[in-house]
Amino acid sequence: DMFPGDFSGNPMQRNTPKVLFSTVNPVGFDNPKLVAFNQKFSEEIGLGKFQESDINFLAATNLFEKIKTYATAYAGHQFGNWAGQLGDGRAILAGEITNESGKKNEIQWKGAGATPYSRHADGRAVLRSSVREYLMSEAMHHLGIPTTRALSLAFTGESVVRDIMYSGDPQEEKGAVIIRTAESFLRFGHFELMSAQKEINTLIDLTDFTIENYFKDIKPEGEQKYQAFFTEVCKRTADLMVEWFRVGFVHGVMNTDNMSILGLTIDYGPYSMMDEYDLNFTPNTTDLPGRRYAFGKQGQISQWNLWQLANALFPLIKDEKFLEETLNNYGNYFWEAHDTMLCRKFGFDELKKDDEEFFTNWQALMQELQLDYTLFFNQLEKLDENSDIKHLFSSVSYGFLDESKTQKLEHFISSYESRLRENKISKKESLDLMKKTNPKFILRNYLLYECIEEINNGKTEMLEKLTKALENPYEEIFPELSIKRPSGYDDVSGCSML
Ligand code: AMP
Ligand code: MG
Ligand code: MG
Repeated sequence: DMFPGDFSGNPMQRNTPKVLFSTVNPVGFDNPKLVAFNQKFSEEIGLGKFQESDINFLAATNLFEKIKTYATAYAGHQFGNWAGQLGDGRAILAGEITNESGKKNEIQWKGAGATPYSRHADGRAVLRSSVREYLMSEAMHHLGIPTTRALSLAFTGESVVRDIMYSGDPQEEKGAVIIRTAESFLRFGHFELMSAQKEINTLIDLTDFTIENYFKDIKPEGEQKYQAFFTEVCKRTADLMVEWFRVGFVHGVMNTDNMSILGLTIDYGPYSMMDEYDLNFTPNTTDLPGRRYAFGKQGQISQWNLWQLANALFPLIKDEKFLEETLNNYGNYFWEAHDTMLCRKFGFDELKKDDEEFFTNWQALMQELQLDYTLFFNQLEKLDENSDIKHLFSSVSYGFLDESKTQKLEHFISSYESRLRENKISKKESLDLMKKTNPKFILRNYLLYECIEEINNGKTEMLEKLTKALENPYEEIFPELSIKRPSGYDDVSGCSML
C-alpha cells in the first residue's frame, strides 16, 4: 500500500510515483440509514435486488476485509488558474462491476471520509449536496444526457459542520453518503497531473489504458492514436455542452478537474437548471462577479479546458499544428451542433442560412422579456392560428408583458410562423420533434430546496414524487411541477455549496 503522506508543504509532491491512486479505507459509520435506493439501476448494472443488510455496503461501513478501496490523484485548473494537485478528496472507489452483457461500471462512495487527497477538508458530505447529486444525475440521465449515475443515498448518522454560503454562519447538517457510478471517473485533471509532474511514462500508460478501455473505436497506432483520442474528447465535450444548452443546465464549476474525459456530466455541486433565460446566469455564489462559469459561457469555457488538456497531452502529440487546428475547429463544430439543436427545439427541419439571425433575435427577446426557458418552448408547442399570444406567454414570464414587450413578442412569433412555413416536414413531424427535444419537467432549484427541507424533517414524499417526475421528463405527469419558479424562491440558488 502506498500513501502520499502529507504534501501540504509541496502540493506537487505525490508519494505514489508510477500510479495514480492510494489505497484508503472509508471511515465507517455507527448508525447509517438508507434514504433512497435506485432499484432499477441496481439491476441494470448487475448489483441485483436490495436487501436489508446492504445498508452497510451502501454507507461504506463494515466492509469485507479483502475489499481494496482507493482514491485517485488528479490536478486541475480552477477558475482559470493552475491549482496543482487535487484528487478524490471525498470520493472513494469500491471497484468495478460487470453486468450480464459485459458493461462495466466503477462504483464510488462520495462522503465516506477523508482520503490522502482531502487536504484540510473532512471528506464528508452533507445531506443537502448529496440529495442534489443523487437526484440531478438521475434527472440528466433520463433527459438523455451523458452523466455519472446514482445508486443510493444514505444518512451517515453523523452531523457535519458547514458554512452556509449565503448566511455566513457555520451550521450543523446531517451527514450523508451516496454511491455514484460511471464507466470511468477519469478527468482532464488526471492527465494534467501526470504531465505537470513529468511522469511521461505514466501519462502514456494512462492514455493507452483510457483508449483501450473507453475509446475502442480508435484504430490507428502511434501519435495518430493520441490525435484521434484528442479529437474524440473534443467532440464528446462539445456534444455535452450542446446538451446542457438544450435543457438549460448550468454546471457552475467547470474547472478542469470537473471535466470527464468521457464527456459525462460529473461533480454536481452548485449547478442549477435555468428558470428565466439568462446567458449570464450562474448559481455559483463563489463565481461572482466574474461569472466565468455562467450559462452562456459554457461553450467557450469547455474550449479553454480542452486547451489545458492539449497542453497535458503535448508530450504524446508533438504536432503542435494539429492541436491548434483541432482546437480552432472546436468553435465551428460547437456552434453548428448548437444551432442544429436549437432548430429541433423550434421544430425546424434543418439549419438554414437565416436561422442564425432568428436565434440571435430570439435570445434578445428571451433576455428582455424574462421568459422561462423550458416553459417558453412548451407554450410554443401550443401555438395555433387563434392563439392569444400575450395570454399564452405572460404565464411563463418573470416580468410584466407591457404593450411594447407584447408587440415585440407578437413580431417574433410571426417571424417564427413564417420560418415554420419553410419546413419541408409536416406540422405533425415538426411538433413531434419539439416534444422529444423540449422537456416538460426539469428539476428546478426550488424543487430541490423544498425536497431537502422535507427530508431534513423526516419526510420523503417529495423525494418520491420528484423521482417519478424526473424519470419521465418529456411528459407532464405532475402539472404542478411544470410551472415557473414561484415568487419567494428567487434566492435559493446559493443553497447548493458542498
Ligand atoms: P469541487 O469543487 O467539489 O470539484 O472540489 C474540488 C476539490 O476539493 C476536489 O479534489 C474535491 O475532492 C475536494 N473536496 C471538496 N469537498 C471536500 C471535502 N468535504 N472533503 C475533502 N475534500 C473535498
Ligand atoms: Mg470536483
Ligand atoms: Mg465536488
